[in-house]
Amino acid sequence: MELRTCKRCNKELPEDMFYRRKQSKSGWDCNCKECRNAINKVSQEKNKREKTPEEKAKAVAAVNKWREKNREKAREYNRRSAKNMSKEQRDAMNARKRELYAIKKDEKAKRKYSFMLEFKKALKEL
Ligand SMILES: [Zn+2]
Repeated sequence: MELRTCKRCNKELPEDMFYRRKQSKSGWDCNCKECRNAINKVSQEKNKREKTPEEKAKAVAAVNKWREKNREKAREYNRRSAKNMSKEQRDAMNARKRELYAIKKDEKAKRKYSFMLEFKKALKEL
């Protein structure tokens, strides 16, 4: 087994101390498993911070825009990621979907409501 040097801790470790990473040139993650887990944990902590409604709406809009442009890719991506998911991940995804749906519904309701108000106003002015 070959030794690889971790970019983060600079330790020389056997390959099985690294995760496979198809996207990289070497086929291996450049950080050892221990470091990779630590990195992931940090970014998870970062993502845990509750997003503001503006941030949420912005993120939703960006995703929707991408989906509009890449319908096929989006479908393929959903199909593939759903297959590889654990139960917890799927539950989390479904919860998020419901959340997104609720936001959408809320926006729709608001639009409907403001339209109704305008309509009523217009009627009064007649
Ligand atoms: Zn390391």
